[in-house]
Amino acid sequence: MKPPANNVPAVTTGRVAKPFDPYRVRADFPILSTTANGRPLVYLDNGATTQKPSAVIDRISHYYREENANIHRGVYRLSQVATAAYEESRRKVQKFINAPDEREVIFTRGTTEGINLVAASWGRANLKAGDEVLVSAMEHHSNIVPWQIAAEATGAKVRVIPINDDGELLLDELARMLSGRTKLLAVNHVSNALGTINEVKTICTMAHRVGAKVLVDGAQWVAHFPTDVRDIGCDFYAFSGHKLFGPTGIGVLWGRRELLEAMPPFMGGGDMIESVTFEKTTYAQLPNKFEAGTPDIAGAIGLGAAIDYLTSIGFEAFHDHEQELLTYASERLRQFPGLRVIGTAKKKAGVISFVIDDPPMGALDVGLRLDREGVAVRTGHHCCQPLMERFKVPATVRASFALYNTKEDVDALVEALGKAIDEARVKQGRAKPQAAVRAADPAPVEFPDASAPSPDAAADELAEVFEMLGDREARSEYVLDMARKLPDTFDVLKGMQIPRVPGCMSEVYLLPRAKPADGNGAGGRPVQFAADANAEIVRGLIAILQKLFSGQRAKDVLAFDVEDFFRRIHLEEFISTQRRNGLAGMVGKIKAYAAEQAK
Ligand code: PMP
Repeated sequence: MKPPANNVPAVTTGRVAKPFDPYRVRADFPILSTTANGRPLVYLDNGATTQKPSAVIDRISHYYREENANIHRGVYRLSQVATAAYEESRRKVQKFINAPDEREVIFTRGTTEGINLVAASWGRANLKAGDEVLVSAMEHHSNIVPWQIAAEATGAKVRVIPINDDGELLLDELARMLSGRTKLLAVNHVSNALGTINEVKTICTMAHRVGAKVLVDGAQWVAHFPTDVRDIGCDFYAFSGHKLFGPTGIGVLWGRRELLEAMPPFMGGGDMIESVTFEKTTYAQLPNKFEAGTPDIAGAIGLGAAIDYLTSIGFEAFHDHEQELLTYASERLRQFPGLRVIGTAKKKAGVISFVIDDPPMGALDVGLRLDREGVAVRTGHHCCQPLMERFKVPATVRASFALYNTKEDVDALVEALGKAIDEARVKQGRAKPQAAVRAADPAPVEFPDASAPSPDAAADELAEVFEMLGDREARSEYVLDMARKLPDTFDVLKGMQIPRVPGCMSEVYLLPRAKPADGNGAGGRPVQFAADANAEIVRGLIAILQKLFSGQRAKDVLAFDVEDFFRRIHLEEFISTQRRNGLAGMVGKIKAYAAEQAK
């Protein structure tokens, strides 16, 4: 008997339970025996993507070495071999999610594309002004933005199902929100940022009572619990291969046949047509109607191999193991009184999100420090900005488990975290605890003078230092050191009610001014700026920008090629893309001010 899909499933298949051995499983994943920063890799970012077993890697390699041909087209043997392998994977997926019909299994690039397909195709055909689409407050951006786009195009409205402080959906509220206007409800099966397991079966029953369709985002569910779309009772189910030990670039959208058949195509092109004339084109049957163009054939075959691999182990074998890791990690993290777990739902998958309030540490700083110990975790808003807003945190640190993780991995996380917290305490103690400084003795706002005759000269000096430092760890430590030397003016600047710098994950305030009493020389008055942020690494970036720009002539600031400089100092090694957006926000503000002065 299958377990109810909306519970933390007590997986019962009647098989005699063998003790699960994560160490044996680890041997199947080559990357797990590599090192990171000279230490054994401790991979705790499975929510972002899972590692791949040799069975998957070898299957993809075999396909390219011996089976590669385009599918559905060739009359020759190789094409038929490739087509058969591709279509066999579809049947593996069908069985894996207990779908009634293999034609209902659409290969996509991933969860994001699956949801976009439904929002664009079903949405366009079925939504109109006055209709409502409900999404939960804990959705990934990929289950929010496509609905906003569809709503904008059709005049429908997106409404948000609220959650409680533990990160659980408020089903009573949902009951009140559902009405004849509700046309679709989109919800994740497991929240990537909180780990909450949502009661999708109950939600489907509730939504269907008012005639609404339900799309379930299964991205974070499929690698951890058995999936049964019939039992859930949903109308659409989307997931990604790469979070299921399969390759990137492949995913699945399952939909009820009658709905998919009635939907217009999502993309037009080869393979999705029955016949094409300039007067009228007719579309292919399912699933081809939704698979325009050459698909990721190797990806689909690799996904099939991942499903075989996981099925050969069996969810029942590792279910308790993952739940034990969650419990063990939750208990061990309690040893840090300043650490706050975000997401404490009663039913959770193996995800722990947390922030460190005392000593105050930005999530990114924690992530960078853990990386130095070989521990890979996710930091940031996890593509859930509205959820972060709900919990009033800019970002969290997230550890997420898979079947190959062990208690030693959790111990490594806790040990590295202990070191990071101790270090932060010592540093903040030495430089006076930030909170105390802010309350009692805020530094006056300083507008630094030029550090060199021109931004180019300042850049050369900085680049030389970064070159000398050599490795990534030393460079990131240097930036953090610059952060420590930056005067703490956060509260003063924030108190001035200047707008936050856009694009930054953390709170950043930047105040530019024209250098007083310098007159309007050639190239405009020198510009200076004060800035501060509530994340250490961003404070370090501010210090770099000040060295480059503060006190320089507006014309020189405008002419300086920042991107080139960032490449010179290998910034991408220690700054995430999101941080770089924030950095671009700061540079944008400085340059906009310089442009005004140069006029
Ligand atoms: N939904 C959830 C809940 C996710 O965790 C993710 C990936 N973080 C996605 C959707 C998007 O998945 P993909 O990037 O593979 O399309």
